[in-house]
Amino acid sequence: MAKLVWRVKLVAELQPGVATETEVARIERYEEAGLADLGLRLEEAKQLTAALQAEIVPAQVAVLSECHRSCVACGCTLASKGHYRVRFRSLFGDVPLRVRRLLICPCQGGSGAKSAAILDFGGNPVAPELAYVTARYAALAPFGKVAALLSELLPMSGTQHASTVRNRTRRIGPIVVQQHAADTAKPTDPVVVGLDGGYVRSRHGGEGRHFEVIAGKVIDAEGAQHRFACSPSPYRSRLFTNAGSVHEHDCG
Ligand SMILES: [Zn+2]
Repeated sequence: MAKLVWRVKLVAELQPGVATETEVARIERYEEAGLADLGLRLEEAKQLTAALQAEIVPAQVAVLSECHRSCVACGCTLASKGHYRVRFRSLFGDVPLRVRRLLICPCQGGSGAKSAAILDFGGNPVAPELAYVTARYAALAPFGKVAALLSELLPMSGTQHASTVRNRTRRIGPIVVQQHAADTAKPTDPVVVGLDGGYVRSRHGGEGRHFEVIAGKVIDAEGAQHRFACSPSPYRSRLFTNAGSVHEHDCG
């Protein structure tokens, strides 16, 4: 049976009039197509966006390197201080990068840092969009489920462990709270950043010998953190807070 072939090419024009082509994907179908063969499959869409990301991000970093080669104050060329390797994590896959470090120009004097990277990842090379999406869904579903959902729909390489989602949520939490406080100008509004839950089971089994625990953290606009956990029994539940107090509370 004859095959239909689509080759997807990325045409980069990083300087006016200079175009370079890279094949980023190849899609094949038999002429006889069923419903499932129409259009892109999820796996192909993931590979395609990951391939685009793997081309675009390193090209941007290379261009940045060139842009920052001269001192903004005196214009003289800055000496290279080698590269450092980072793994940039994004919604469209992890991209390994070599980021150039440049010596600080002597005209800047001072006793500060001797060199600086051309792109500052702040020790955490995660795309803000990835951090946002992770935190947004971690507020709605257990961390483990968020990890599974994101890696099913997006070309996020490696296993998206629940702990990664949890850590990312914790990092983004204070930023969300500060933005929220700035946006609303109502500093007393609480912000729920994350909730997670699980079952605690008795090792002896039997009816009624396990219960569900829901844990979460609320950070208010001032940055004060309140952790809590509760067990949603049918009518009332006990709410445990990090202040050490125990309240009767409706968990629903
Ligand atoms: Zn200078």
